[in-house]
Amino acid sequence: MITRRPTKKIQCGDIYIGGNSPITVQSMVKRNTEAIKSVIKDIRKVARVGCDIIRVAVPNKRAAEAIKELKKTISIPLVADIHFNYKLAILAAKNGADKLRINPGNIGAKWKVNEVIQCASSYNIPIRIGVNAGSLEKRYKRSDAKSLVSSVLSFVDFFESKKFQNIVLSLKASDVLTTIEAYRKISKLVDSPLHIGITEAGTPFYGSIRSSVGIGSLLADGIGDTIRVSLTGSMEEEVMVGTELLKSLGLRNNAPTIISCPTCGRCEIDLTKIVKRVEKRIDNYRLPIKIAIMGCVVNGPGEAKEADIGIAGGKRVGLLFKKGKPIKKVKEEQIVDALFSEIDKTF
Ligand code: SF4
Repeated sequence: MITRRPTKKIQCGDIYIGGNSPITVQSMVKRNTEAIKSVIKDIRKVARVGCDIIRVAVPNKRAAEAIKELKKTISIPLVADIHFNYKLAILAAKNGADKLRINPGNIGAKWKVNEVIQCASSYNIPIRIGVNAGSLEKRYKRSDAKSLVSSVLSFVDFFESKKFQNIVLSLKASDVLTTIEAYRKISKLVDSPLHIGITEAGTPFYGSIRSSVGIGSLLADGIGDTIRVSLTGSMEEEVMVGTELLKSLGLRNNAPTIISCPTCGRCEIDLTKIVKRVEKRIDNYRLPIKIAIMGCVVNGPGEAKEADIGIAGGKRVGLLFKKGKPIKKVKEEQIVDALFSEIDKTF
């Protein structure tokens, strides 16, 4: 069981980040924010697979104005991501953004950052201070963990000098070890909630591994209040990987877990096909059930015992188990339907 590091609780729309609130999964819209209709579709789709908070890029005035339309329709909190131009942050807040994400280092003069702080304060919305190794202020010669921590701390001091504590922090690097070190250091120094992730992690295969190592190590240490898996892939993939990561550490229990064996020469059913079909069909279920799909009776019944429901393959058949007890034998082609009929009946 993981003991989470105590942090302040802040509110983002109708969701809380930090304190004892569940760790949230975020993603970021990949298309132009101004393409309102398509962006709404994207957000609805990703919310269905478990995205708790969505972020959009705000590179210009039109994008900041699009937020007003998006907010009328979407059901999850929206974060406006702003670089360079403090006026866009103010416009995004006015148009209903639930949270602002800025890198104060590229907003420029302190008075500009202060304008954003005062605006967020008047709308009572939080700001994520997001520092990235790739865009550290020029005074830092190296983009290492020490520099990331020093940079973020100087911003925290500034925000606190303006009596603004409604903040979330992130210090991301594309290097996994640098990121882990930076978050470990900052978590000992401040109690603001932390948004964790490996930036520019890569394609779904490599990026999921790198994110799992980085985010997973931190979560296992009790560090992290909200996560984003950054992939050169779809938003759904980002959210699904993030959700699996939380589930695998026992930090999210509102979704099914599938346990499946790697198969070997003893397997006499098409287990890969069955697992894929179950995975697809279970997608819409928001139940904390554990489903075991095992190729044969060697480990099948044992694993199925630990699961809520499961099957162990035989010769072109599957033996259905519920809470460790065998309930019936079905033909291979009926395995998936039999499994779901039992899930629907019981859970
Ligand atoms: S459960 Fe059976 S089929 Fe699957 S890997 Fe183990 S021995 Fe092989």
